[in-house]
Amino acid sequence: MSSTSIAVGAHVEQTDPIAEAQARGMTHVQLFLGDPQGYQGPEVRYAGGADALRADAEAAGVGLYVHAPYIVNVATTNNRIRIPSRKLLQQHADAAAAIGARGLIVHGGHVNKADDPEKGFDNWRKAVEAVDLKLPLLIENTAGGDNAMARYLDRIGRVWDAISTTEQFDLVGFCLDTCHAHAGGNSLETVVDDVLAITGRIDLVHCNDSRDEFDSGADRHANLGAGKVDPGLLAAVVRDAGAPVVLETPGGAAEHTADAAWLRERL
Ligand SMILES: [Zn+2]
Repeated sequence: MSSTSIAVGAHVEQTDPIAEAQARGMTHVQLFLGDPQGYQGPEVRYAGGADALRADAEAAGVGLYVHAPYIVNVATTNNRIRIPSRKLLQQHADAAAAIGARGLIVHGGHVNKADDPEKGFDNWRKAVEAVDLKLPLLIENTAGGDNAMARYLDRIGRVWDAISTTEQFDLVGFCLDTCHAHAGGNSLETVVDDVLAITGRIDLVHCNDSRDEFDSGADRHANLGAGKVDPGLLAAVVRDAGAPVVLETPGGAAEHTADAAWLRERL
């Protein structure tokens, strides 16, 4: 694949994602549907609702990705979190499909410190069995968490083992976040190959620099070139993954346009 064919998008405010894409000269964007910290369920804030967003985005040539709320944790052994998380995931799969999204991104989640991680792997299997996906579900690696499902590679491998038995396995993909990989303690020199050896696919790259050191466990994104990640490695991950990119870096259209230019110069 030629490096110039990698499309770069950004996470944008959800009211008019098409205008946000156009302000950045981008052909795809990522958005939340409603409150990323709340359990109240998705909402489409675009004027005209889901059908209008789907039609207008298609007419404008803008691809949409939906990021599920941060609070979704389908792995946990805590029923009071796992059950509403699974419900939220279903609601977001339905809403994301309704706007014609290309994928729904969800964090890998975690079990509590004293819990057996096996329970979390099995809860992931149950979630993929229970939720009618309708569109690709992209599991994202996370930076921290004492007992995270998708921080370290061995755990990602166990999640994949667990979900590989499900009927909808072909609808489950991977979203590689470069800030999370770095801060989570995975070498960016090998992470693309390491992930591909487990999942066989990387569907999306969240290209973010990190304000924190390698293996710090902190999740604080920085603009490209302004953080602690080696610039050459950041570009190499994007190039090697060969997947569409979403910037989740600080700022608005001006900062995202600059980050996209920084990245394209290095691909
Ligand atoms: Zn991310």
